[in-house]
Amino acid sequence: MTNLSNARLPLRCWAEIDLDALERNLRLIRASLPGHMRYVAVVKADAYGHGLHQASAALMHAGADLFAVANLSEAAALRELSNDWPILMLSPVIPDEDRFLAEYDVAATVSTLEEVARFDAVARSAKRPLQVHLKIDTGMGRLGVWHEEAPTLCAAILAAPHLRLAGVFTHFASPDDDPAFTAEQRSRFLAALSRCSGLDLSKLFVHADNSAGLESIEMAGPFNAVRIGLLQFGILPRPRSLLEQVHTEPVFSFRTRVGIVKQLPAGTDISYGRTHTLRRDSTVAILCAGYGDGISRAASNRGWVLIRGKRCPVLGRVTMDQTIVDVTEVPGVISGDEAVLVGRQMGAELSIMEFSGWSDTIPWEVLCSVTKRVPRVYKTSLGL
Ligand SMILES: *Cc1c(COP(=O)(O)O)cnc(C)c1O
Repeated sequence: MTNLSNARLPLRCWAEIDLDALERNLRLIRASLPGHMRYVAVVKADAYGHGLHQASAALMHAGADLFAVANLSEAAALRELSNDWPILMLSPVIPDEDRFLAEYDVAATVSTLEEVARFDAVARSAKRPLQVHLKIDTGMGRLGVWHEEAPTLCAAILAAPHLRLAGVFTHFASPDDDPAFTAEQRSRFLAALSRCSGLDLSKLFVHADNSAGLESIEMAGPFNAVRIGLLQFGILPRPRSLLEQVHTEPVFSFRTRVGIVKQLPAGTDISYGRTHTLRRDSTVAILCAGYGDGISRAASNRGWVLIRGKRCPVLGRVTMDQTIVDVTEVPGVISGDEAVLVGRQMGAELSIMEFSGWSDTIPWEVLCSVTKRVPRVYKTSLGL
C-alpha cells in the first residue's frame, strides 16, 4: 500500500491492523469447520483495505490453502510473497490480460466457452497447463455459466488439452438473509455438477460458502472449501448470527487525533451549510480526519467517535480533512488526544457495523473506503 505518510511524523489519522488477530481468526474459523474443509483466503481490494502483502503473509503463516484475488495486479503482488501458493482470480480476465495468467501462474474463473478457447491458447503458447475453476451461476446473475448450461462448459474445459480443472464453485446472492434461496442455489449447483460427466469432485476445490454462507454450511456433500473474506478480519456479516460462536477478533481499527478544542456559544450554526445548531454552550473538538480519510460525508450529524472512552457525536457536515465533534460532556479533552472512529478505547467500543450504519453502507465498503492518505500501522509478533 502506497501512501503519502512520512514515517518521521506522528500519526494523525491511521488504521491499526492486528496481524496476530488475523492469524488467530483463520485458525478459529478453520477449527470450527470440518477437518477436510480447505480455506480460501479472499484478499481482494488490498485485503479489504488491510494491506495485501501484510495480511497475506499472515494468512500464509496461519496456513491458508489458496488465495483469491480480483485482478492480476493483486495476483502479481502475491507472487512477490510466494511463487507457489495457489491463486484464484475471482473476476473476469480481459483478453489483453490473458497471457499474464501464465506469467503469474493464476487460476482463472471460467464462465464462457470463449474463455475456454482463450485460456487454452495461452497455456499452449506458454507451454504449460493452466489451472481454471469452473464457476456456475445458480442465481446471482454475475459471473459463472448459467447452471442449466454448466455441463456443456464443463465438457469443453475437460476437453481443452492445455487446461486443468482445479475447482468448481458458485456464489450465493443472499446467504445472510434468505436461507431458502441459498438452499435452492446449493441444490442447483449440486444438480448441475451431477450432470457434468467425468468430474472427480474429490480432486477439485468444491466451494460455495463465503463468510455469511458459513452459517448454513452443509457439512455433507461434495463441498470441501470455503471462501473467507470479511469474517477473517473479525467482522460478522450480520450481528447476532450463528457465527458469533466463532469468536473472531477485530483486526482493523481506525483512529485520529483531536486538533483543537474550543468553546462556542449556544445558538451558533456550525460547519458547511451551517448544518448544526448548537443547543447549548458547547465544547467542540476538531478532529484531524474527514472524508479525505474515509469518514463518509453521510455520517454528517449522525456518526459518533470515542474520546477518553466516551461517545461524542459528530456535529454538522464531515469535511474533507476535519470533523467537528461535541465534547461538552467529556472533561479534560486536549489537543493530541486520540479519537477512535472504529475500535476500542478505555473499555468502550465503536463497531464497524455502527460506523457503516451511519453512512448507510456495509462493512465491506467501509474497509474499501479508507483512503491511501491513511497509513496502516501493523501490530504483529511476526516481524514482517
Ligand atoms: C468477495 C468474495 C468472497 C468473500 O466474501 P466475504 O463475504 O467477504 O466472506 C467470496 N466469494 C466471492 C466470489 C467473492 O467475490
